[in-house]
Amino acid sequence: MKLAMIGFGQAGGKITDRFLEYDSTRGTGIIGHAVAVNTAKADLMGLDYVPNENRVLIGQSVVKGHGAGTEPELGERCAREDMEEIQSAIDQMTSSEIDAFLIVAGLGGGTGSGGAPVLAEHLQRLYVEPVYGLGVLPARDEGGIYNRNAARSFQEFVKNVDNLLGFDNDAFKTGGESLGEGYSEINSQIVTRFGALFSAGEVEALGDDVAESVVDASEIINTLGEEGISSVGYASEEIETEEKGLLGRLRGGNDDNGLESSGDATNRITSLVRRATLGKLTLQCEVDSTERALLLVSGPPDALNRKGIDKARKWLEQKTGCMEVRAGDYPLPNEDRVAAIVVLSGVTEVPRVKEMQRLAIEAEENVEQLQAESKEDLENLIEYGDDEE
Ligand code: GDP
Repeated sequence: MKLAMIGFGQAGGKITDRFLEYDSTRGTGIIGHAVAVNTAKADLMGLDYVPNENRVLIGQSVVKGHGAGTEPELGERCAREDMEEIQSAIDQMTSSEIDAFLIVAGLGGGTGSGGAPVLAEHLQRLYVEPVYGLGVLPARDEGGIYNRNAARSFQEFVKNVDNLLGFDNDAFKTGGESLGEGYSEINSQIVTRFGALFSAGEVEALGDDVAESVVDASEIINTLGEEGISSVGYASEEIETEEKGLLGRLRGGNDDNGLESSGDATNRITSLVRRATLGKLTLQCEVDSTERALLLVSGPPDALNRKGIDKARKWLEQKTGCMEVRAGDYPLPNEDRVAAIVVLSGVTEVPRVKEMQRLAIEAEENVEQLQAESKEDLENLIEYGDDEE
């Protein structure tokens, strides 16, 4: 599936950059066009892969290239004022080349949080292709302001896209290392999941290794639908290549003929799909609140089989309770891993979003309380001053 990808804000730009890296090293051809939009000049300059002419600095008259901090209102204003410049960078592509737009943004800050929903609304008006969002939620410990920004932005973003693919930094953060290293690791998790999903629809890249049951762009589009939230599950397993199998046998570790039976492949597929669905999702949700689902299995052709995929699809139908479950495979001859991707689309039970809204209300109340307290303090100070006179 070919995307026009727009990274909005710092996180959005960095993640778009990583998608371009993934696309160029694997030759998947999923990015038809890539644009990075930001109010901070330094963030745009720090990108490696987005072409220079597609880096758009907005809001220069408002924030002078210094960013929008944690103020989504500023991000929104800069986006509205400079929409024409964003549009002309997007116009560099010919829309017949792409299947959909994907706007990527971290929702806790200012630029992406405020700007991404505005851009989505604009693109929906102008293009017939679907417009999707990839919205990154802040970690819980980033604090009230970030959660409040994200809660508001999430609401606006959902309203303006055909589907909002959620990703929760909190579920993927790793303890210990610096923030930069942490994000780099999280970003590779993002790209692994969504890159594999969109690659599956890019069937041209397969060449002669045509899949048994191909998932094309229209099936991804039908799964994502025209409104709602999606979450993605992923699980993978390294498989024994012929060489490793031989080594294993020489070491006496394997006394069969070293070839895998189709039963093994079937079991591996069903177990990976279970792990992908019941393990860590990009956005934690109740699996049985899914409206439509898609499952994809990629890996070396020998490790893929229709029986495994059929069994896994039936299991997923049962687990999600929905009848609209699409399934397919994606042969990757040079891979030594089998991977399962599960898209849960139109999910309605998403505890993290509820929690973010609660944190947002608490943050609002704190702000009001602080304002009231400082007003009282000021009044006391002035009164005190009066007494002294
Ligand atoms: P903006 O430039 O004003 O849109 O704000 P940022 O993108 O810098 O930050 C917004 C939120 O995105 C932060 O609160 C973090 O939760 C998240 N974030 C920032 N950088 C990254 C990144 O590289 N990867 C991921 N996954 N999240 C990030």
